[in-house]
Amino acid sequence: MTKDWQTVIGLEIHVQLATHSKLFCGCSARYGDKPNSNVCPVCLGLPGALPVTNAKAVALAVRASLSLGCNVHVKSEFARKNYFYPDLPKGYQISQFDRPLATGGSVTIDSPDRGGVDIRLTRLHLEEDAGKSIHDRYEGLTAIDYNRAGIPLAEIVTEADLHTPQETRLVLDQLKQTLQYIDVSDCSMELGRLRVDVNVSVRPRGDLTLGVKQEAKNLNSFTAVERVIRELRDSQIKTLQAGQPVQQATFSAGNGPGALRMTRRKEESHDYRYFPDPDLPVLYLDERFITNEAAQLPELPRVRSERLRSEFGLKEGDAVVITATRDLADYFEAVVHAGSAPLKSAHWVTGPVLRDANEHAGRFRVSPSTLATLIGLVADGTISNQAAKRVFVSIAASGKQPLDVAKTMGVLQVSDGNAIGTWIDAVFVRYPDELQRLRGGEEKLLGFFMGQVMKESKGSADPRSLSDDLRKQLHQPDDPS
Ligand code: ADP
Ligand code: ZN
Ligand code: MG
Repeated sequence: MTKDWQTVIGLEIHVQLATHSKLFCGCSARYGDKPNSNVCPVCLGLPGALPVTNAKAVALAVRASLSLGCNVHVKSEFARKNYFYPDLPKGYQISQFDRPLATGGSVTIDSPDRGGVDIRLTRLHLEEDAGKSIHDRYEGLTAIDYNRAGIPLAEIVTEADLHTPQETRLVLDQLKQTLQYIDVSDCSMELGRLRVDVNVSVRPRGDLTLGVKQEAKNLNSFTAVERVIRELRDSQIKTLQAGQPVQQATFSAGNGPGALRMTRRKEESHDYRYFPDPDLPVLYLDERFITNEAAQLPELPRVRSERLRSEFGLKEGDAVVITATRDLADYFEAVVHAGSAPLKSAHWVTGPVLRDANEHAGRFRVSPSTLATLIGLVADGTISNQAAKRVFVSIAASGKQPLDVAKTMGVLQVSDGNAIGTWIDAVFVRYPDELQRLRGGEEKLLGFFMGQVMKESKGSADPRSLSDDLRKQLHQPDDPS
């Protein structure tokens, strides 16, 4: 039924900026402290208290804007957004309205339906968070924790350029990845540091005017975002097909599917009576400050992935996995700089290293140089690739050196000619006919003898020396003795 309808989606994303203190006072922004312990007259909105802007928060928001290609304005303005809600002690939220910190910019995604598309950003502005209502602590009462009130957020607003839940997911994944790369936010959704409002409308395919939108606020998982888009889309299409108009409305998402609750019928910006905050000066940024921030931006994921492909010949899939986080990409490059071949390094990093990190809270338990040493042991034939995998598991847990562990495990390969010669002789005695055929030039028997000698050596023969020794037997006339 979605065939004749086009879904239109726009996002408003709130990201907590990684500062130690709040946006307009010195209170700690730490998570998990005793409720209402990080509060002061400023963030509680007591009469006479004056806000002072946190420079670190501004710097982080500028960095975020630059990484998204936004145009950062030298002059922006804080405004009061007035509304009443118990978690808002001042009766207004300090935000930015008609003079935001930054405008424009885009996020490029590879849409499954449309290929590469730029999703335009409308703006990025600074604002403070509200407190938190807690409904399940006291029977019949709502408790409020103001520790979160005043914590700095960047709000990023997209144009209504998205058309499917999948595209929306791609934009969110990429935004999150970028903001993590530049250390603007850890984007932990569990801790409420990334929250998404989705705006959804539908229109007959081909129509140019937008349909009436409905909004779902404060979604704290990307799965919930996708689900809510589908729910709103399907219900709007149903309404329109029944000949009814869609009602503009705001929802908040409860837990589980189908748990959308309508909280407001309509809401327009003029309801908030925005006006410039008289307690805060206009925010002027020095041009040099902006250029300096731009110069310090790290290489962003897409660019880095491209570079790893062209510089080291990585496959696209591996480059994408390796650049998924800055830590992993840094780790990979450190392994290569420690002297390992890039493709071998990529193989290790996307496999055993990543698996071990995922099982240990993202920690890399084997240092890049130790991994390079291990890879070196395989490269020079000291241990086999199979044995190296087991050595890795062991050194990850023990922190020991690869060669020591390999010795203790007894997996050192023997390339010593005498030992190999003894094993070969034993096998030759066992298979005289096959030996004669080998010497007559039957090359395919090399594999057979490789296997037999390996077995004889209990896996410790170095395959390269072994293969060299066996090849020497080819085309050799029988020993007359
Ligand atoms: P409001 O004034 O209700 O906050 P905005 O114009 O500020 O609306 O837009 C808020 C978000 O909603 C933006 O992400 C925007 O792209 C998106 N949006 C606006 N109109 C529509 C629409 N008709 N359908 C889907 N999304 C929309
Ligand atoms: Zn405070
Ligand atoms: Mg708006």
